[in-house]
Amino acid sequence: MRKPLFFLSFILLSLAACQSGEQSETPSVYATCYPIFDLATKVAGGLIEVKNLVPPGGEPHEYEPTPRELGKMCQADALLYNGLGMESWLEPLFKNPSSQEVRDLAKKSYCLSDGIETLKIEGVDDPHIWLNPKNAIAEMDKIRGIFSSIDPENASTYALNYENEAKRLVALDEDAKAVFSALTNKNLVVAHAAFGYMADAYGLTQHYVSGLSPDEEPTARDLEALIQTIQETEVKTIYTEELFTKKIAETLAAATNCEIALLYTIETLDEDQLTAGEDYISLYRKNIATIQEGGK
Ligand SMILES: [Zn+2]
Repeated sequence: MRKPLFFLSFILLSLAACQSGEQSETPSVYATCYPIFDLATKVAGGLIEVKNLVPPGGEPHEYEPTPRELGKMCQADALLYNGLGMESWLEPLFKNPSSQEVRDLAKKSYCLSDGIETLKIEGVDDPHIWLNPKNAIAEMDKIRGIFSSIDPENASTYALNYENEAKRLVALDEDAKAVFSALTNKNLVVAHAAFGYMADAYGLTQHYVSGLSPDEEPTARDLEALIQTIQETEVKTIYTEELFTKKIAETLAAATNCEIALLYTIETLDEDQLTAGEDYISLYRKNIATIQEGGK
């Protein structure tokens, strides 16, 4: 008689421990790049802990999680990722899971670009979907759904947070439309081909130095062709970005008598930007102002 009782109390005890643990613990999710981190943070409103896999200032295209980070992701309630080749580590890992934990992680991982109309650059999927604010709204709606299933009790709060942020994104989209449609020169010469979704949304034409990843080196022939394009389109500004080597932009600017200005791909934010309270919308607005100035 003693044994079953002991077992019963043991089971009840562990059940109680488990339940109280669940109640006090804030759910947590991982994002694989800054845009997802920011959108998820806005929807979470502090009720879900959102972590960015890539450290401040890190380059998300080439980032590979350490085994320790992978272990932490496995313990989270969900992994939100961009897809379209942004996370080069993810697909091979989920295809050949190294453990049961990784198999479980694959099941609670959500690709936010699913269902979003994809653009291609030289035949390759362009992963920079967030640079069309409408796509950012669609991603955020997915995040709202995921958070509501992780934490159904707070579903109405997540819906409200989504609505509020979506309103700000709609305003951003309208302002971008107004500014870009009034540009005299709608050609955009950029460092890496990250701005395809923005160009597509607002009737701009993107010309670029490097392909989809900032690490790609242009050849002398690529540069020559671009110099010709700059002259033909009468572009006055070459846009570079933080993670891109300034040397190429400087060479181009010198050859074409252009100014250099900085655009944000918003794929990563450094420590200073985060401390200053910058986010997706604030940096997008800076981009709009910069292009307005450069396209005069
Ligand atoms: Zn990029």
